[in-house]
Amino acid sequence: MAFDAHLAYCSGCDRKVRVIVNPRVVAEGREPTAKDLICLEHGDSCTGDLCPLFDVPSAEMKERYADLLRRARDRQGGN
Ligand code: SF4
Repeated sequence: MAFDAHLAYCSGCDRKVRVIVNPRVVAEGREPTAKDLICLEHGDSCTGDLCPLFDVPSAEMKERYADLLRRARDRQGGN
């Protein structure tokens, strides 16, 4: 699955991170909201309880990332 990733500066880990819009937005034929943004670096280097880039609890970004991985696996027919 290819993503159209954009770079954004994360002050939590002091570097640029790759960010995408959840592909479910296209599948659902709607406009993206802030809740559809996903950091592809989640878990690699963020350590705090709050994601400073998206101003959401780290657990929420973790769930968004997990949703992305689940969808990718489903599309590939994996387990
Ligand atoms: S999820 Fe982690 S790495 Fe990504 S922007 Fe938020 S704090 Fe930074």
